[in-house]
Amino acid sequence: MRIKSSHITHRSTCRICGGMKLSRILSLGPTPLANAFLLEHERHLPESYFPLDVYVCKACSLVQLIDVVDPRILFKDYVYVSSTSPVFVAHFDTFARQVFDRFHLSARSLVIDIGSNDGILLRPFKQLGARVLGVEPDRSIGTIARKAGVTTISEFFSLIVARKILKKYGEASIVTATNVFAHVDDIHGLVKGVKHLLTKNGVFIIEVPYLVDFLEKNLFDTVYHEHLSYFSVTALHYFFEQLGMAIIDVERVATHGGSLRVFIARAGSTHKKESSVQSFLTSEKKIGLQEEKIYHEYKKKIERNKVTLHTLLSKLKEKGNSIAGYGAPAKGNTLLNFFGVGDELLSYIVDDSHHKQGRYTPGKRIPVVSSEKLKTHPPDYLLIIAWNFAESIMKKNEEFRRHGGKFIIPVPSPKII
Ligand SMILES: [Zn+2]
Repeated sequence: MRIKSSHITHRSTCRICGGMKLSRILSLGPTPLANAFLLEHERHLPESYFPLDVYVCKACSLVQLIDVVDPRILFKDYVYVSSTSPVFVAHFDTFARQVFDRFHLSARSLVIDIGSNDGILLRPFKQLGARVLGVEPDRSIGTIARKAGVTTISEFFSLIVARKILKKYGEASIVTATNVFAHVDDIHGLVKGVKHLLTKNGVFIIEVPYLVDFLEKNLFDTVYHEHLSYFSVTALHYFFEQLGMAIIDVERVATHGGSLRVFIARAGSTHKKESSVQSFLTSEKKIGLQEEKIYHEYKKKIERNKVTLHTLLSKLKEKGNSIAGYGAPAKGNTLLNFFGVGDELLSYIVDDSHHKQGRYTPGKRIPVVSSEKLKTHPPDYLLIIAWNFAESIMKKNEEFRRHGGKFIIPVPSPKII
């Protein structure tokens, strides 16, 4: 196990408030990077491991990782193209329409998307008539966006980049950052850049996975090195106030197991503050997000889950059963590594991604294969690693069950179906 200190920064202060009272609530690591699937020839080489510990700040209650892996290492093999998912295409299409109407955008309005991927959100804005600009550090994904007619600059967004944008394109009516904010360490720098770009009544809209869903739905496996912050409205409210901005509205959306869509404007804007803001703050206080108790209980629950699943799989194996896994998402590696489920328990993992087939999972090194293998070498049990999609996975694999196979849902407490 090697930890490369040159590729990691260990923060001693909270990402939002700079406070030093950080308390560790969950330790999942050290763990390899969740997207670092191994090629055949890498299978027996050592891997890089990085700490994966979750902390809560006692001052502002931000839940966060404080070990930050260099983004150039972290996103090296990033190949996610948003528009390959029809669910996301529909999600962003509706989103663009709502924002266009609500904030009375016109052909003069500029909409900027940070982390714009292949232009999935900006394409509908453009169709509605707005001017659009994408900021996407991945050059090859940026090229896909440009081919689709979305002007895109290939940079990591910052205040310096914002100054360049302002000079060339002018002020923005809307700036969006969907599923980006939780990945960025220097969110102060990011928001300063956004503020620099917004018109007087401009609106910044972010989507971030919601801490309350994380806790209530046991989404511990969404913890991996790319996800630096687990936001609540309480923490965000404090954060934006510090920067002379204000949350004007909050919605819950279904993406990524449960997210927040947060609308933010300058502190002196004419936008009305919706009642949603206060109701989120009140409900979060009631849930006890600022107390440590809720995190202790969460940790205990996850650790219990780990023991019961491991015991179940070991017993099945002792009785001579074969077990395979279904689904090799990044978060699956948090589950396998933390629960200690390796190739002594799972013979292989089925995944539809051609990019992953023929590779081995980081850490546990379980071979990833196509679904053909379920027909040629059907196991007795199939562990559903992408457990939040259990229903649709079981439906898709009716035939496996008809031939006597059984499914295992691992979380929150293991269940055989
Ligand atoms: Zn803090």
